[in-house]
Amino acid sequence: MQKTVDIKDTFISLMQESFKGKRKRKELARWITDNQEKLSSLISRGEFLRVKHGTRGDIREVLDSLEPCPVCSSFKHSVSFSDRDCYFEAEREMDEAVESGKMSIIEKPSWYPEIPDNREVGGIYYECLKCGAVFIVLFPEREFLGSITRIG
Ligand SMILES: [Zn+2]
Repeated sequence: MQKTVDIKDTFISLMQESFKGKRKRKELARWITDNQEKLSSLISRGEFLRVKHGTRGDIREVLDSLEPCPVCSSFKHSVSFSDRDCYFEAEREMDEAVESGKMSIIEKPSWYPEIPDNREVGGIYYECLKCGAVFIVLFPEREFLGSITRIG
């Protein structure tokens, strides 16, 4: 029983380190292959493959299902706002998280090529300092009312 807890903690911290760029995806893939049998009690075969071969978003979902982040899992993950008030509310929520040292504003991550849907609007990238999740908040522009998306 103790062993299961240990491997879960190790697995979670490896995924978080991979998000924060402290560990290469290849190392994570090698580790889960080495520990495939032990991990079978934690994750399904499909989840195993998503961590091994999938996108950053795939790994993020597996991590969420094992241990939702106490800081950012309550934030909206993918929402196009229906009015300006919703946008300002989300912006305020993110700013408060930055001020309290839970998140930080970052440059566009190198692994993230472009703004969703090629929208020609500005945005801000936020990184959760607890789990390494990255969000983009797009500013309202004309008929577009802004959005928040967890991109990885
Ligand atoms: Zn987080």
